[in-house]
Amino acid sequence: MPLSMALLNALRAVRRYPSPLSTSKSWLSTKASLLGDQNILLMGAPGAGKTTVGRIVARRLGLPVIDVDDDVLEAEWKMPVAAKLAAVGGERFLEEEGQALCNFSASGCVVSLTGSNPLHAAAMRRLKESGLVVYLDVDGEDILQRLGAMKVNRIVGQEAGASVRDILLRRKPFYEKWLDVRVLCGRGAAAEEVAEKVLEAVERYGDRDADTFVSTRSAGAASSGPKTRFGDVVIEGLAADGGLYVPKRGFPKMDAPEWLRLVDMSYPERALVLLEKCIHPSEVSASDLRTMVFKAYGSNFSSEAVAPVKHLHRNQYVQELFHGPTASFKDLALQLMPQLFAHCLPQMCNYLVLVATSGDTGSAVLDGFARLDADAARRTGVLVFFPEDGVNETQKLQMTSHGGGDDNARAVGVPSDFDFCQRSVKRMFGASGLTGHLAVEHGTVLSTANSINWARLLPQVVYHCSAYLDLCRDGVVAFGDPVDVCVPSGNFGNAMSAVYAKRMGVPIRTVICASNHNRVLADFFATGEYDLRGRRLEPSRSPAIDILKSSNLERFVHHVSDGDGRVVAELFGGLDARRHFRAAEPLLRRMRREARAGWCSEGECLAAVRSVHAQTGYLMDPHTAVAKVVADELQDGSCPVVLAATAHYGKFAPAAFEALRIQNAPEDPAEQLRRLGATAAAPRPHGGVTACLEESAGGQRGRGHATCQADYGALVEEVERMIQDSFLKVV
Ligand SMILES: *Cc1c(COP(=O)(O)O)cnc(C)c1O
Repeated sequence: MPLSMALLNALRAVRRYPSPLSTSKSWLSTKASLLGDQNILLMGAPGAGKTTVGRIVARRLGLPVIDVDDDVLEAEWKMPVAAKLAAVGGERFLEEEGQALCNFSASGCVVSLTGSNPLHAAAMRRLKESGLVVYLDVDGEDILQRLGAMKVNRIVGQEAGASVRDILLRRKPFYEKWLDVRVLCGRGAAAEEVAEKVLEAVERYGDRDADTFVSTRSAGAASSGPKTRFGDVVIEGLAADGGLYVPKRGFPKMDAPEWLRLVDMSYPERALVLLEKCIHPSEVSASDLRTMVFKAYGSNFSSEAVAPVKHLHRNQYVQELFHGPTASFKDLALQLMPQLFAHCLPQMCNYLVLVATSGDTGSAVLDGFARLDADAARRTGVLVFFPEDGVNETQKLQMTSHGGGDDNARAVGVPSDFDFCQRSVKRMFGASGLTGHLAVEHGTVLSTANSINWARLLPQVVYHCSAYLDLCRDGVVAFGDPVDVCVPSGNFGNAMSAVYAKRMGVPIRTVICASNHNRVLADFFATGEYDLRGRRLEPSRSPAIDILKSSNLERFVHHVSDGDGRVVAELFGGLDARRHFRAAEPLLRRMRREARAGWCSEGECLAAVRSVHAQTGYLMDPHTAVAKVVADELQDGSCPVVLAATAHYGKFAPAAFEALRIQNAPEDPAEQLRRLGATAAAPRPHGGVTACLEESAGGQRGRGHATCQADYGALVEEVERMIQDSFLKVV
């Protein structure tokens, strides 16, 4: 068999380096043994440094090194690779190269692939079976420079006259397809540095326990129980002790050269690189993650930029987070979260996600779950309860346009308030008789998708990073310059994800939290006292931030107390028990160093919508306007500030008419949108909202939607009916 001869030659040529530092020997052997007898396969473009880096990595680990070019191909062909390419031409070269590797059988080596190996599927499958494919993701300009300096003339495709730039572009998808782990190389990074990163990446890959999670309320040391992994936190949502899950090791930090690599990337590319760093590949493989991310942030967003940043005026920018299918920023999380959820589901069970919503969450959850592919949808359903008179007409139509008979996503109106819906859902989770019955009789587990779920928070980190990268790309800041972000805050998810973006290394100076007159957060930052006693929810024009208990705040307190679970348990346990807690002065100081908070009245909110429209033609939704007012008050103008535009004005049209003082606003929601669209220079009308309203106006209105009595038993019946319709179909 010709290949084993070649391989024998290769292995004879292997250079075994003694480990350089005897003191770190145990460390070295741990790293090497992490992968057992698997190979470490370095993949990348020609000129990416695979050979050089491979040698360093092999020496550090005390492993043999195989250079596919020299040790396999030249040994087999008995001629230089360049000569072979010149002799047979590109196409035949690729085939012969692939053939030569189809029986590859080395183990426990560091293998430097050729730049063209990934173009031959059969060979690459074989190689991948033998170990871990590490992609040296080197900037294209670096590659061009190096190849120019090396006067390289043996790249497949070059002989046919294609430019190296084109060849690199065409190959990138192949590298992206095969990688197990990515090593993102800053421009001009030295081989030693890249090798160090390879070692780190291999170590993380081999250690499933590298990225585990703990509860915000756990006391740290006593973590002898089973490890909680990404899949567990996505499915469980809340930790058993009532706390919220956070990554045990914190967030991975990226350095400036790495961030700069992301500047020229598209939104899904940025999302992929960032999420790869935050989700362990043993939980979601790089290729699965890629599929999910590109599905989540594709044509379902009406802006190709997904979350574009627009200049508003002076030092203020808005990040438009409303281009998703349901026109609120919840889509950024919920176009991805259901896919992660379906991926992490244990086999053999059906999952019914129960949601109580006061507006934007409902439609975003329904849309996200309804897009699951048939396989996942067969096992996953979502049932949304909304207060029949507690959401606006547009939100209601968005929710009820989902859910025909056997849909896996359904919304039911309840003639009561949000609180009743919320309480009933919570009661079902606590009712062991019910959950036991559903599990035994129907093989169905109840789950939730609320904003404390890690898989909802994590995707939000990406858009804060992306906003800063956009400002770099557009020359507003140079990387390292500070910016502030200002977000309308309810459950503090948006704010918390900005804090995490900062942790990852984005130079965010201050996260400004904006409340409406339901200002429990602003009061907390001002006094250190979180006090729900005697506080009542007052309806507002920005209903998505009408909130009393800001659930993700617990993660923030965990963060600023350096992960002190006892402090968190004491404070938030106190909130559950006594509706009140007070943060100690040192904690408060640290909170204020990271974030500030303010609030705005209804009058100020409307005035801001009106004046921004008058000055710039831009029409903000009331939530965005709350952020604008608070930024005007708290931000000092010394650096740019990004306002989170969390909803499209079309979702809250009546408030827009009121703010703009337009008399005789049309009754019909679709007509309202047309009027506002003609008034606003920007942003453009939201296609999804418009289509939803026009469809319902075009005859289907009055078709009605499912409702049920405001009675716990009736809600339970809805759950059972949904399970029967979705999961008990005979296939
Ligand atoms: C949900 C929502 C918010 C609040 O976001 P949190 O992350 O809970 O603070 C703000 N604006 C809009 C439009 C929303 O739908």
